Amino acid sequence: MQMTQTQLDMLKVQLGKLMKHSAFYQEKFKGIDVAGIKTQEDFEKLPFTWKGDLREAYPLGLMAVPEKEIVRIHSSSGTTGTPVIIPYTKKDVDDWATMFARSYEMAGITDMDRIQITPGYGLWTAGIGFQNGAEKLGAMVIPMGPGNTDKQLRMMMDMKSTVLCATSSYALLLAEEIAKRGIGKQIHLKKGVIGSERWGDKMRKRIAKELGVSLYDIYGLTEIYGPGIAINCDHSTSMHYWDDFVYIEILDPKTGIPVKDGEIGEIVITTLVKEGAPLIRYRTHDLSRFVLGECPCGSKYPRLDTLVGRTDDMVKVKGCNIFPSQVEDVIKDVDGASSEYQIMIDHIEGKDILTLFIEVKKGASKLDVAHELGSLFKIKIGMTPLVKPVDIGELPRSEKKSTRVFDNRY
Ligand code: ZN
Repeated sequence: MQMTQTQLDMLKVQLGKLMKHSAFYQEKFKGIDVAGIKTQEDFEKLPFTWKGDLREAYPLGLMAVPEKEIVRIHSSSGTTGTPVIIPYTKKDVDDWATMFARSYEMAGITDMDRIQITPGYGLWTAGIGFQNGAEKLGAMVIPMGPGNTDKQLRMMMDMKSTVLCATSSYALLLAEEIAKRGIGKQIHLKKGVIGSERWGDKMRKRIAKELGVSLYDIYGLTEIYGPGIAINCDHSTSMHYWDDFVYIEILDPKTGIPVKDGEIGEIVITTLVKEGAPLIRYRTHDLSRFVLGECPCGSKYPRLDTLVGRTDDMVKVKGCNIFPSQVEDVIKDVDGASSEYQIMIDHIEGKDILTLFIEVKKGASKLDVAHELGSLFKIKIGMTPLVKPVDIGELPRSEKKSTRVFDNRY
């Protein structure tokens, strides 16, 4: 994707500031003529920033302004080891709310909406991001945080919430609970804003149908503000991103070289105006692609496709590269299969075995689903899995991002 002149100008300013005030980037760019960066090609020679670098800067090594300008920190939920701390200035907090309000507007949400927020509040960026954006928009916030399904549903009915903000797995859990309790008529939801997570078309359709809502994917990560840097519109499932705040590259995760526009690769983000902890060429490990051409909605903001997965979910089994989204594509073509699945990969007696657990819809034949899924998997992905059908509800649901692929080989 071509960098615009405006972006290049913003970048030069950003890099100039970093070389003056950021100990982190002074160290990283040691020996590089940063002032001499004049073109996109020059920029593409700069080294990447990795999550590991951010961990090493713990706790406040990323701070790129005097401490009196920092008003808040957030921390990414590191599952292992040292967390990452991102400091924010007042302007960062405000810019993030501006992007988030723009995201809500892209989804057709207005100041007359009542927004029920179920992602967590605290060190991570979810709940508070949804809230600040909604307040900037002028909507009414119902700040629930996660869990306590009884209370969620009660508030949803009594407050007549019109927008639900949630992870896809929690939205599914709520949708199932609403169906189970037969309270669909008392629910007034119109839209669901679903935190960025790779999720299948089938799950999307199920949530949309059971809740009776239009769904929007909102993208973002704690290292780069938080959720709200991209969202899809009503005309497309791909997400418009705010290229006046972030510059995005799509690279081959193995070589670090840009892929052809439209091909799948890793999303790499540079912040254009961030103050507290700007990041240059940050490797997100999220896989997606640029969606080319103009969106029918008329928005000038460029688009990223729905996430395909994580670079670390990309698994190689018997010589085939497998992305979770491919598996979802197969599942969606099998009638009796639900949207919920899990993959286990084991190495047994010198052979790789891929086991696909799938929840089968009530009334459908498990044997037929297993057979159909097995042969379609072979045709579309190129290898034969061991399919294990299970009942609806047997696979774990979680309020956090769900993990679908377990590689037990190493
Ligand atoms: Zn659009």
